[in-house]
Amino acid sequence: MKFLKPVLSILTLTIFSSAAHGEDNIEPAISEDEIEIGAWLDSQEEDMLDLLERITNINSGTLNKAGVDELAAIFSAELRDLGFSVSALPGDFIEMPSCPGSDYNIDVTDHVLASNLGQGQRFLLMGHLDTVFPVSSPFQNFTREEDILYGPGVADMHGGLVVMLYTLKAFHEFNELADKNITVLLNSDEEIGSLSSRKYIEDQAMNHDWGMVYESSGTNNLIRSRKGLGQARFVVNGIASHAGGAHNQGRSAIKELAYKIIEIETMTDYESGVTVNVGIVNGGEARNTVAPCAEAFVDLRYPTPQQGEDARLQFEKIANQVYSYPVDTSELSTVSWINLHRPPKIPTEESDYLLEKTRAIGKLLGQELGISDSGGGTDGSLAQAVGLPTIDSLGVAGTGAHSNREEARASSLVERAKLSTLLIRRLASE
Ligand SMILES: [Zn+2]
Repeated sequence: MKFLKPVLSILTLTIFSSAAHGEDNIEPAISEDEIEIGAWLDSQEEDMLDLLERITNINSGTLNKAGVDELAAIFSAELRDLGFSVSALPGDFIEMPSCPGSDYNIDVTDHVLASNLGQGQRFLLMGHLDTVFPVSSPFQNFTREEDILYGPGVADMHGGLVVMLYTLKAFHEFNELADKNITVLLNSDEEIGSLSSRKYIEDQAMNHDWGMVYESSGTNNLIRSRKGLGQARFVVNGIASHAGGAHNQGRSAIKELAYKIIEIETMTDYESGVTVNVGIVNGGEARNTVAPCAEAFVDLRYPTPQQGEDARLQFEKIANQVYSYPVDTSELSTVSWINLHRPPKIPTEESDYLLEKTRAIGKLLGQELGISDSGGGTDGSLAQAVGLPTIDSLGVAGTGAHSNREEARASSLVERAKLSTLLIRRLASE
């Protein structure tokens, strides 16, 4: 990467000024070779759709290890066929504090690492195998109505996995793969915040030159910056007691948690961009029992790393303080688990270069791509935070992620495969 830096600032300036003044695209026109690659990708559209249908019909909610493993096996076999050496990276058992009887522990299955060691620029292609839809979700099947595809993960991000695979197949078809230096990392726990795969992503990111994540491109938008994300669990333990006969001997965990929730919710500050959301609350045993345990699961978003650290300290303070009873605090205790699982994605000169190059190539291909910022995180934030310039929205166009309205635009499969093929090809020859 280092040798690129002297020219980057000039290039970035040129791209920005040409974009600002509506001048000609600074990317060279599509070459004959690239036209041929594009035509080949056009010919693969039905195969791409078939693969997307097949993998969408396999439930791969993060906690469904068997389903995620099935997807991992499909992609591992495809990558081996292309000449990649493929290995499994061990998943983890992640323990979370919980009230008795409510199990929030997470058993994450293995991740897939595939490498093709060629020459030159080192590309790290990332995608997640899991979706947010558990086996119990009513939203399980792939359907199609003309150019619109419906199904769990069609946009987030089974569609992106297909785009990534066909990018590599295109290189293989034209004998351009063997000489490229490409690593593929497919994790199985992105939807719970990459709690197991983070270390692998950061490790790989530090040893590559360009990062590519195949999350959805939404309504044809590339994402420039993203907020950081955190998650926190609070488990309050009190003292159970009869709500009639011995009310004053009880210490209600629900009452204490209620005070804490108010404190947590007041951390939201739209002006500074910090938001918290108490998303899940559980507690108590019976109407007529003073609650011995109560728990909350909290989401945090923050624009800067410092704001994340400040929020962590505030969470700890709230956990350690007793609000509800003027009593010996040993009667009420709180266990907290706080994880700033995604740093903010802060644009750099190199990531802006990558973004503008992608956009310029898109323009040559007739794809008008906007640029926007997002409050949502991806694994690209982890990669970029350790220094890898990363573009994180190379996947299919689609909307409604994480809901039973999730949909993707079928024609964007081939479009984005062309885009990512040309992007990697052109970066590799710089
Ligand atoms: Zn996703």
